[in-house]
Amino acid sequence: MFKKSIKAYEKACKVIPGGVDSPVRAFKSVGGTPPFIKKGKGAYIYDIDGNKYLDFVQSWGPLIFGHCDKDIEKVVIKTAKEGLSFGAPTNLETKLANEIVDMYDNIDKVRFVSSGTEATMSAIRLARGVTNKNDIIKFEGCYHGHSDSLLVQAGSGMATFGSPSSPGVPSDLTKHTLLCEYNNIAQLEKCFEESSDIACIIIEPIAGNMGLVPATEEFLVACRELCDKHGALLIFDEVMSGFRASLKGASGILKVQADILTFGKVIGAGMPVGAFASNKEIMSYLSPEGKIYQAGTLSGNPVAMAAGLESLKKLKANPKIYDDLSKKALRLVNGLKKVAKECNISLQVNTRGSMFGFFFCENEPKNFKEVGNCNFERFAKFHQEMLKRGFYFACSQYEAGFICTKITNKEIDDCIKAAKEVMKDL
Ligand code: PMP
Repeated sequence: MFKKSIKAYEKACKVIPGGVDSPVRAFKSVGGTPPFIKKGKGAYIYDIDGNKYLDFVQSWGPLIFGHCDKDIEKVVIKTAKEGLSFGAPTNLETKLANEIVDMYDNIDKVRFVSSGTEATMSAIRLARGVTNKNDIIKFEGCYHGHSDSLLVQAGSGMATFGSPSSPGVPSDLTKHTLLCEYNNIAQLEKCFEESSDIACIIIEPIAGNMGLVPATEEFLVACRELCDKHGALLIFDEVMSGFRASLKGASGILKVQADILTFGKVIGAGMPVGAFASNKEIMSYLSPEGKIYQAGTLSGNPVAMAAGLESLKKLKANPKIYDDLSKKALRLVNGLKKVAKECNISLQVNTRGSMFGFFFCENEPKNFKEVGNCNFERFAKFHQEMLKRGFYFACSQYEAGFICTKITNKEIDDCIKAAKEVMKDL
């Protein structure tokens, strides 16, 4: 079934390290060869062997409207025909910035970059520059991209590969990164007692890189209060949850609001893009208005801006989409939970909007350590068997899944039926 993909993977391994351009794609934690994808359409992807899969990854989140949405495709083609990049200002950037600013009370300005990694790296530089402090607090299991000072007990591929940090990152560059347990207020308080040099907390308010583990309300309130008390800034990394958890991401469903927000792939509807945003005072520190340097040749790329604008326009025009997506995510995980129970398998499930996660374990994990105690062998077998039956889930229990608007209830029910068949033998 994977003959051509196996060959393609062998060829890729000769010229690309591990055959992939982002480690998690290599399927190391579930085994087997990753299918090489030829094309996508709606809720489905098709590999080079001709297999068709119902796609619960959707390019790791950005494709809310699924693959090759007609409206987005149209504006992308139209914009691309006018030039792929200018390295000069375009109205498209202002339009997309306006759309984002209009949605939030706590944001006046946005700076576009080309990836989530750049967005978080730049947001931290901004926080350090504004506060004139050096330390940052990050939480175990939260992934904020692969910049040096953030590669400390990160989730996602870093978790899969079991690297507490990466070779090539001098400890001098991570000594300002203070690590705390997610959802642990006491540890956070201690951290602030021990350092008077804390510039910011960076957090995924709905963590999606250790599976789906939402922060508790009390924990986020503590983050906010401690930042205010000690003159630090709170950064919500919404690279994954932005426009996914709700139209306003995690910020839209939480009482606590951050000082700086980071966005990523979702605002480009599948094109490479990222952004960070804050109020006008904080953003005025950025070059060329202020002295904090940050730049990018392809930043605000017109094709990415056009795709993002169209996607956002469609989402705003029909807020009911979020109801529908949430219901479908719940239908899926509740269905999985039910069949797991019938098969005497402990399964914990969670959703936030169209993001979902499931863990093979007894109790709902609240932090990275608890996620680490889940049954990874069982997940791997589940993943392999579901793939054979045409269901493409994220290839690690440390990753979240995503629902797109094109998926139907019938397709979700078919998936649950297949899951029952698989779970009987797990
Ligand atoms: N922050 C979060 C929350 C993410 O999920 C990711 C990527 N999955 C990043 C940052 C990094 O984004 P990118 O891969 O686009 O650099």
